[in-house]
Amino acid sequence: MDLSKRKFKEDFKKMLTEVYSMGLKESEATEQFFTLGNLIRSYVAKNWSRTNQAYIEKGKKQVYYFSMEFLLGRMLKSNLLNLGILETVRDGLSDLGIDLEALVQIEPDPGLGNGGLGRLAACFIDSMATSEIPAHGNGIRYKYGLFKQKFVNGYQVELPENWLQNGNVWETRKMHAAVTVRFYGHVWLEHSGKGYLVPHYEDAQEVLAVPYDSAVIGFNNEIVNTLRLWSAEVPPQDESTDYWSFIHQRNEIESISEVLYPDDSNYEGRLLRLKQEYFFVSAGVQSIIRHYKKMHLGIEHLAEKVAIHINDTHPALCIPELMRILLDEEHMDWEHAWHLTINTMSYTNHTIMTEAMEKWPIEMIQTLLPRIVQIICEIDRRYVMEMGRLFDTDLIQSTRIVEGGHVRMAHMAIIGSHSINGVAQLHTNILKEKVLHPFYLIYPSKFNNKTNGITQRRWLMLANEPLRHLIDRKIGNEWATMPTELKMLKAFREDKRTLQELAEVKRQNKVRFARFVEESMGLEINPEAIFDVQIKRLHAYKRQLLNLLHILSLYFKLKEHPEADLHPRVFIFGAKAAPSYTYAKQIIKLINSVAELINHDPDIHDKLKLVFVENYGVSLAERIIPAADVSEQISLASKEASGTSNMKLMLNGAVTLATLDGANVEIREHVGEDNIVLFGLRTDEVYHYYKDGTYHAHDYYEKNQVLHRVLNALIDGTIPGAEAEGYAIFDSLVRYGDEYFVLRDFDDYAAAQERIDRLYRDSLIWQKMALINIASAGIFSSDYTVQQYASQIWDVSSKVHRI
Ligand SMILES: *Cc1c(COP(=O)(O)O)cnc(C)c1O
Repeated sequence: MDLSKRKFKEDFKKMLTEVYSMGLKESEATEQFFTLGNLIRSYVAKNWSRTNQAYIEKGKKQVYYFSMEFLLGRMLKSNLLNLGILETVRDGLSDLGIDLEALVQIEPDPGLGNGGLGRLAACFIDSMATSEIPAHGNGIRYKYGLFKQKFVNGYQVELPENWLQNGNVWETRKMHAAVTVRFYGHVWLEHSGKGYLVPHYEDAQEVLAVPYDSAVIGFNNEIVNTLRLWSAEVPPQDESTDYWSFIHQRNEIESISEVLYPDDSNYEGRLLRLKQEYFFVSAGVQSIIRHYKKMHLGIEHLAEKVAIHINDTHPALCIPELMRILLDEEHMDWEHAWHLTINTMSYTNHTIMTEAMEKWPIEMIQTLLPRIVQIICEIDRRYVMEMGRLFDTDLIQSTRIVEGGHVRMAHMAIIGSHSINGVAQLHTNILKEKVLHPFYLIYPSKFNNKTNGITQRRWLMLANEPLRHLIDRKIGNEWATMPTELKMLKAFREDKRTLQELAEVKRQNKVRFARFVEESMGLEINPEAIFDVQIKRLHAYKRQLLNLLHILSLYFKLKEHPEADLHPRVFIFGAKAAPSYTYAKQIIKLINSVAELINHDPDIHDKLKLVFVENYGVSLAERIIPAADVSEQISLASKEASGTSNMKLMLNGAVTLATLDGANVEIREHVGEDNIVLFGLRTDEVYHYYKDGTYHAHDYYEKNQVLHRVLNALIDGTIPGAEAEGYAIFDSLVRYGDEYFVLRDFDDYAAAQERIDRLYRDSLIWQKMALINIASAGIFSSDYTVQQYASQIWDVSSKVHRI
């Protein structure tokens, strides 16, 4: 938008007076932040309503991206950047004696997600608005985001994250758009006499779903899409309601949108979770139908104007819910309703790990959603009947939705939609060949791949301004919307000056991060060291343990050979563990105890440091990633569906140290063998071990001297304070089979780390690798990912920039 600095300053002062009746001098950062937020809203208002109007008038097909999580991060700078007024506002504020960065810190980081899945949804809505795709997010407005993590004595302690305490400046409560969602009770069907059945509900609990809308601003294109998050409230009461029963009911209802479940890649069969899933699904689908009817096209054309996307199985109840509306409210017959539902729905699979697969007991659904369970059973019955004619009985039985008293959500999502995609090439292949192979035999054309992506606007333009300016000076700024233009940087691969400038940018970022560590943790780290980063949820399959065992091996090496020729290293971890995931929490404690041991050992000096930042989230990621030299992507091959921190880190010039898992495979393809450091078992080797059962972790403990020494340290008191954890972890590896092949990959990992050490010493070689990583990262922009979803799955228009 056009905005002069003078106009901005006037607007800002005027808004401050209007909202707070304050002059500039009396105001503090909090008032200034809210004033700026309100001003941005006023700037956006016109384009927001224009965008919505245009979608309706032009009869555009619209996409609704259903996700249980949206891990947005702070929105202030992102909104300013996308409006094209970041610099104007920064300068204007500075004239008024206000530091924009101080206002940024006022905004709470809305943690409405666990990790990669929620962050993907956030990158997607940014990219969809920028790519001019008529697409909106649909989710839950959790009162409490993901817990705040504190370390007490090295143990993770969880504190509530009350992010709404001071209000959310970006949202608008839309009371007129509220809908009713029904739970419990009994339902029976009656013939209407007009050829359809009418459901009658008795004793159902009614919940009012109230939407809160936030603007999703496209980058410099006047498009403003909507993120709609639903909050659960008590419906208006009649006068006969007893006060105490009202209070009781209110607490029960409001708890639906109170907390985000903190489990990442792990399924918890709790009733409240099922309520949450149906709550935002039913509210979202009802509101879509209501909106669709404004076009007056007749319900039979729904799939031409609406696409509903199911992000993992959490919103898979979209399928029976749309069926319910089409049957019970629109009086369609089953075949037409089913055809329409399939054509409307599409589904993304995010995991192959069995512990993450949702499987709800049928009695639970029966109690909570009596009408929905009838529809699910009928879908299942017809599936068996119709497919039974075409395919082998065993094949159909193994793919049923209802089995062993459970509803398998992934099966429902595949059967009820026209597209199922994996999130990286390797992951999609594993789905087709192994995990979902029976479905692939039945529906080969439904399967497709959409490799995940990240928005370069947040993860480079905002998070790493020094690098952004360097790139702009070298190749211009087209990469903001045409990210593969970054490839032009390759022209500078032999240019010493550019490589030195790149090194200088990295050094600046490392100094900045070192200052943060010093101020927040009281720990001094050396910016000349290699900053080696592993930031992601704590999970056994991600193998933070492999990293830690290697750190211990370096520590012992330095203790025994102080003269050992190692380039100084700072190992940086950020990770939250699910509160109920005992093993992950033991690993956190162990990492913290090892940090305590190493960081305070005078023999080690600054050759080795271990930094475990507290409360990892989007804002911390934005601080750490620009300062990273090495990106640790070391999951056991086949386990990480895609990964996205691998993409963020390469975009910021870190070199990837990786197994051939998830999108690492594609990163290798794009940067080339020489610009990535690989190690470890391959997927086929892992499957081979599963098949013949020949992996014996104990042998590695017995025969590998370095490992023996390191593993013994877990149980011989070398690591003070973590004795119990040391034993538990030792046992998991040595006695109980080492499920994720940590010991098997240890030597290969250590050798890869030595290669890193050697490569880093030649600054020009290293910076050339960094440059090629940055130059090759454009293809991993979520702009391209969503453009592919738009054309290949949703059949909607987008502004496509050729790759
Ligand atoms: C990108 C991101 C993730 C995902 O990281 P992976 O290494 O791909 O698991 C998790 N949390 C946050 C805060 C992120 O920004």
